[in-house]
Amino acid sequence: MRATMMDVPLTVAQILERAGRLFPDTEIVSRRPDKSIHRYRHAELHGRALALAAALQKAGVKQGEPVATLMWNHAVHLEAYFGIPCAGGVLHTLNLRLHPNDLVYIVDHAGPRTLIIDDVLLPLLAEFRDRVRLDRVIVVNWGKGALPEGAVDYEDFIAAGAAGYVPPELDETDAAGLCYTSGTTGKPKGVVYSHRAIVLHSLAISLPDVLSISHRSAVMPVVPMFHANAWGEPFACAMMGAKQVFPGAHLDAVNLLDLWNDEGVTLVSGVPTVWLAVVRALDENPGRWPRVKGLRALIGGAAAPEGLLRALIKHGIDPAHGWGMTEITPVGAIHSFKRKLDTLPPDARIAHLAKQGLPLPLVETRVVNDSGEAPWDGASVGELQVRGPFVAARYHNQPDSGDRWTSDGWFKTGDVVAMDADGYIKLSDRTKDLIKSGGEWISSVELENAIMGHPAVAEAAVIAVAHPRWDERPLAAVALKPGNSLSLEDLRAYLAPHFAKWWLPDAIAIVDQIPRTSTGKFQKSVLRERFKDWTWDIPTR
Ligand code: ADP
Repeated sequence: MRATMMDVPLTVAQILERAGRLFPDTEIVSRRPDKSIHRYRHAELHGRALALAAALQKAGVKQGEPVATLMWNHAVHLEAYFGIPCAGGVLHTLNLRLHPNDLVYIVDHAGPRTLIIDDVLLPLLAEFRDRVRLDRVIVVNWGKGALPEGAVDYEDFIAAGAAGYVPPELDETDAAGLCYTSGTTGKPKGVVYSHRAIVLHSLAISLPDVLSISHRSAVMPVVPMFHANAWGEPFACAMMGAKQVFPGAHLDAVNLLDLWNDEGVTLVSGVPTVWLAVVRALDENPGRWPRVKGLRALIGGAAAPEGLLRALIKHGIDPAHGWGMTEITPVGAIHSFKRKLDTLPPDARIAHLAKQGLPLPLVETRVVNDSGEAPWDGASVGELQVRGPFVAARYHNQPDSGDRWTSDGWFKTGDVVAMDADGYIKLSDRTKDLIKSGGEWISSVELENAIMGHPAVAEAAVIAVAHPRWDERPLAAVALKPGNSLSLEDLRAYLAPHFAKWWLPDAIAIVDQIPRTSTGKFQKSVLRERFKDWTWDIPTR
């Protein structure tokens, strides 16, 4: 017997149509570069995204051709999220925090001929314009300034509207989006999302046990739209009819909190460094943002330390921990408490919340180590491998990267985890960040999470440093809260009740700030470089 269902392709165009038809009144709110508020509705998003699609088509953009964006988070970037794939093009988001040399590498590798850019980012483009081949630069002219020679104003470009637009025949396996991994490990690698992957991922992250996105939600991705499609939220929100609120380039905690409070935001997603700054602002301004109580905070991209979770809860914010990768469209797991965990006492509840959560529907997981597949017992560690319809099967044009996939078709995440009997993932490290001491592994993530619970500590990262006797030993790089001090002895005494003695850091380096990657994560490679010649007997302060 054969199934009798229709075989309708799953496409981004369907998401835009639903947003425009069912939820034309849903608001999209953005902060402009001058901090003023730009506000319109799905009806306009729908019309303008189709106008962009029509204009791209008229300009000769072919099916499967990448169209690059270099923009902050705002409504016009959202138009590009839909207009480019609807034209049959591939939304190729460029990370504006990368060094121009990396941007040159990526543009050269992906080969977009058209770029849509914020006027405020033109100086960045000027730094590498003559090193890339771009035929068309379309400028979102917020400041109404003069444009560089040959550039087109975005409003002029889309002015003709959707007249004459013939929707291309899209197949669900066609390319719709292209993101490069931020390159914490090696050269950036391109992940090409299909229409189908984006649609399935949008459904999966909207589910009640995942992010619970509905037409009653108001969502702000603080995570940039150039970083793994802002974790897929712009697509999911449009599909569900949720209000979207965008911070533009104003990412400091006070501006963010103002916007959440004014716009009644219900869900915000960002990396831990964003949330650390938000907690500081809340501590310093008690009572200033009453509507932020009850906000759902998705923390992902790096491990959420227990101290951060506790501080958010103290401020009435409801944290959810999530794990993902550019290669997984990108959300792979989100924490939510199974009913049987309702009886956990408060401290155990926070410790549980520090786990990376349950795999999403359609994401299969397994843990593999030297002995084969590890049992889900909460203790056996190994590499997390994943498989599913929104997991990448290869990198774009990167023939030497086959070792990231197993011969039986699983993606090797490079993350070292244990899974418990309930299916919760607990990540102990990235393979390359593990510290190998005397033949045994030490988890840098567990140590730094604990250190960040110390009252004197603002931020901390633990790295492996070569050691003549033990191979590697942990060094704790610590940024202190103003007016505080911390000695190695104090730090070790603080950690001692929670870790085996040989896990305790043998060195502490006080730093002004932990360096960050272009996506706001702690950048351990810079610390490893800075402290690679550490001599173990030099004074620690
Ligand atoms: P990059 O590899 O350039 O950092 P990604 O944003 O794709 O780019 O990063 C994915 C990685 O981020 C994961 O493999 C994992 O190591 C880390 N990560 C993501 N979410 C979490 C989390 N909640 N806890 C710990 N690590 C995380």
